[in-house]
Amino acid sequence: MARYVFITGGVVSSLGKGLAAAALGAVLQARGFKVRLRKLDPYINVDPGLMSPYQHGEVYVTDDGAETDLDLGHYERFTGVPTSRRDNVTTGKLYLDIITKERRGDYLGATVQVIPHVTDAIKAFIRDGNEDVDVVVAEIGGTVGDIEGLPFFEAIRQLGNELGRERAAFIHLTLVPYITSAGELKTKPTQHSVKELRSIGIQPDIVLCRSDREIPEDERRKIALFCNVRPARVIQALDASNIYAVPAQYHAEGLDREVLSVFGIKDAPEPDLTHWHQVSHAYAHPEGTVRIAVVGKYVEIQDAYKSLREALDHGGIANNVHVEPEWIASEVFEAPDAIHRLEGVHGILVPGGFGERGAEGKIAAARFAREHLVPYFGICFGMQMAVIEVARHLAGLDGASSTEFGPCEHPVVGLLTEWMGPAGLEIRRAGGDLGGTMRLGAYEAVLRSGSRIAEIYGATRISERHRHRYEVNMEYRGVLEDAGLKVSGVSPDGLLPETVEIPDHPWFVGVQFHPELKSRPFDPHPLFASFIKAAVDQMRLV
Ligand code: GLN
Repeated sequence: MARYVFITGGVVSSLGKGLAAAALGAVLQARGFKVRLRKLDPYINVDPGLMSPYQHGEVYVTDDGAETDLDLGHYERFTGVPTSRRDNVTTGKLYLDIITKERRGDYLGATVQVIPHVTDAIKAFIRDGNEDVDVVVAEIGGTVGDIEGLPFFEAIRQLGNELGRERAAFIHLTLVPYITSAGELKTKPTQHSVKELRSIGIQPDIVLCRSDREIPEDERRKIALFCNVRPARVIQALDASNIYAVPAQYHAEGLDREVLSVFGIKDAPEPDLTHWHQVSHAYAHPEGTVRIAVVGKYVEIQDAYKSLREALDHGGIANNVHVEPEWIASEVFEAPDAIHRLEGVHGILVPGGFGERGAEGKIAAARFAREHLVPYFGICFGMQMAVIEVARHLAGLDGASSTEFGPCEHPVVGLLTEWMGPAGLEIRRAGGDLGGTMRLGAYEAVLRSGSRIAEIYGATRISERHRHRYEVNMEYRGVLEDAGLKVSGVSPDGLLPETVEIPDHPWFVGVQFHPELKSRPFDPHPLFASFIKAAVDQMRLV
């Protein structure tokens, strides 16, 4: 029967609860346990699909087409376990389901309430389908004390009782800040946060303390005393040199040992963390640095391109180099001479994106890469912009554009209105609902044998995750191919373009899907490994 670890946060947000959950999952997995990670988000949006990347960071897409919190990306990258729509829920989604049931009459006249109906739905979500797992790590978004988080805390409190002491462990992640003027680490915020948690009925078993320096024994004892936990269960989580070092660091501090002791498990094998040491070492000891211009829209927000950032690092690990992204807001290239900024970069990447703002700058960046023979990687929107670029400047279609920006003379990128999904024909119309209606999740693609992309994958049939509403218009395929841009991958029915490339260029590839979502530290995505290799070659040239 599955055991459960509940991770809550206190003091401030952004302490890295998602990474903590993922790293704990990885260490338990390294001890031989089968793990699953789940995230519960107290906000009212049904999913993060329509939330601005400025507010919420990246939207992580699962194989089964759910638009989820970016923490699921950490979970997958750290454990290799694919996530699904059953691993992320929000208040909005729970209420949508409950209200739909209420309207159907399913509650048979009962008054529908937060307790028990909402809390029951939360518990059911957490426990659903865990027959095949040893440990489920469930992370509650937000911090203790948030009004909207209350039903979630209440639900895990109840679950703690229902599961019994050896099947539930509560970890509270807090911050122990260093106050320069006092020259001291302060434990009071942690004490208050645990007090808040206890006031709603949850006694944490373990307090995990983020700190930028070693927490002295005395301070740990103080936290233990005031928070009513054993001293060994006050565990420091010091800032790590890189994220791949975190699992081994947690293990060295005894986090997994203490979790297992809460469960009453004494005979678990020591974890084999060799591969974590290897990847962390490789990351920390690169032989050179390649500079990649990432030309996007949300470049000020680190979290907006989380998976992309990590996939680039994985590509670096695969080639023994450090990847230094140069985040450039594409709008800058709308100024006449700004394009010179791209001189000297070793690769140009245009990531996924939405909307007209900055699109011309992305098209200009694609043109620069093509004309100056700099490796170019276009992902989703980045592929669409490269197609517009080639249509305009090689095929002579001056009025080429995407219907995403309004009607145009040559819609080389157009609205996707019908396609075959896993559950049958999907149909969309302009003006329909925006939430959850894109082409989402895993779709297969067939790659032309002999193409660069087939060579990179070492396969001609692949599956990758999608999240887009528009697609390259196949009516222009012939014109584009004559101009030098080949459609090298298509959907199995041959109707949708999936990848494009310019054979006559050192490395110019566009993909309609998001390969960054499936890249992992131990298994760098072939496209990122190959793109970074091309950037290394470019570095040797310049
Ligand atoms: N805006 C484009 C579309 O919807 C690209 C989406 C993306 O890059 N994820 O098709």
